[in-house]
Amino acid sequence: MLFTDFFAPTLKDTPADAKIASHQLMLRAGLISQTASGIYCWLPLATRVIEKIAKVICEEQDRIGANKVYFTTVQPAELWMESGRYEAYGKEMLRIKDRKDGNFLYSPTNEEQATDIFRKYVKSYKNLPIMLYQIHWKFRDEIRPRFGVMRGREFLMKDGYSFDIDFEQAKKTYQSVFKSYLKIFRRLGLVPVPVQADSGAIGGNMSHEFQILANTGESTLYYDKGLFSARDDELMNIFAVTDEKYDPKTSKIPENELAISKGIEVGHIFYFDTKYSESMNAFVLNEKGEKIFPKMGSYGIGVSRLVAAIIEASHDDRGIIWPETVSPFYVTLLNLHTRNEKCNEMSLKIYDAISTSKEILYDNREITVGEKLADADLIGIPWQIIVGQKNAENNIVELKNRKTGDIVRASINEIISRFVV
Ligand code: ATP
Ligand code: MG
Repeated sequence: MLFTDFFAPTLKDTPADAKIASHQLMLRAGLISQTASGIYCWLPLATRVIEKIAKVICEEQDRIGANKVYFTTVQPAELWMESGRYEAYGKEMLRIKDRKDGNFLYSPTNEEQATDIFRKYVKSYKNLPIMLYQIHWKFRDEIRPRFGVMRGREFLMKDGYSFDIDFEQAKKTYQSVFKSYLKIFRRLGLVPVPVQADSGAIGGNMSHEFQILANTGESTLYYDKGLFSARDDELMNIFAVTDEKYDPKTSKIPENELAISKGIEVGHIFYFDTKYSESMNAFVLNEKGEKIFPKMGSYGIGVSRLVAAIIEASHDDRGIIWPETVSPFYVTLLNLHTRNEKCNEMSLKIYDAISTSKEILYDNREITVGEKLADADLIGIPWQIIVGQKNAENNIVELKNRKTGDIVRASINEIISRFVV
């Protein structure tokens, strides 16, 4: 992609109303554009990041046998009346009337719809287990939208729903999702902290949140420092709890191992037994022809919140530092002297060669050297190839690592072979 074709409206100044680093940087680097309180358009850089995150999630969901679907964002109120949540959900639910005065809503979550699909098609125990998931927009009319996309009203969520024949199976499913979530967050360059949680409005009896430690997080976590060296299958046991759940009298965390920190909730999984299958009369027949209400769980990841969480975890005073797996481009090429023949010729040669195998953003804009370097650091692509007049005369370019700041000099052929596989 040529930067002259690319739409990344970067800002020089930090917007005054943005309080945390990720929100400031998302605005400054031209990732998002606010359209109403808690409602944002995702511009090209952020769209590319979201799609990378989604790809990692899909790959890991495939591995545990979850089926990707699209439920609908607009849902009939009747479905939610069946479960009893149409009233219970309260003011966070955006309620809509259609032209015939029918009651609809914009999805804040999809347990009812997943259960409805299940009861329409699945009749036998032989078809279990089944897991469906989607990555789709949600709307919750949050009382205090804030910190940019961290707590938006419209946000992108991965939400999954599982149906199992009995508790033993359901527990296995829950554990497989738990481990899959650890993998996903690690692939995104994060260190997830699984936390025993209250199951809140969704209700139920087993629940974990996945938190990313960050000073700007809205949750307070009490955790055992030993969790960072625990094995994945040990992590489901109590190493960490949210503040509502922490009680020093009953806590299983040894006092000398206790740490308290703020966290960003990036995922939340629930087991809630037959809450929806029973209330919505979704059942299968077992071997003896008896009605069985499947045991269900639901599994959420805040995909749009993750973009902000990744930035909170990975930035410096110059800008964003994308982990390679989610970076909008793998490498950026900075032609510092676009009026110089040699620089143009070299840059084009590098761009043509690398673009066959890596996503590359070629900054061919006619702006000052200072602006170009500052924008590259702000946008945060992990590798920068810098073509400057003096080096170009000797067929040399510089390769800068955004994270470490290390710069190495290389010939044009060395650079190309470094990126072309
Ligand atoms: P929170 O406690 O942050 O309000 P929640 O517990 O209501 O979230 P869940 O129903 O568990 O949210 O949703 C699954 C995931 O979706 C959360 O772990 C979070 O990462 C994300 N999420 C929830 N609400 C928002 C929001 N308003 N903006 C952005 N992401 C959100
Ligand atoms: Mg939650």
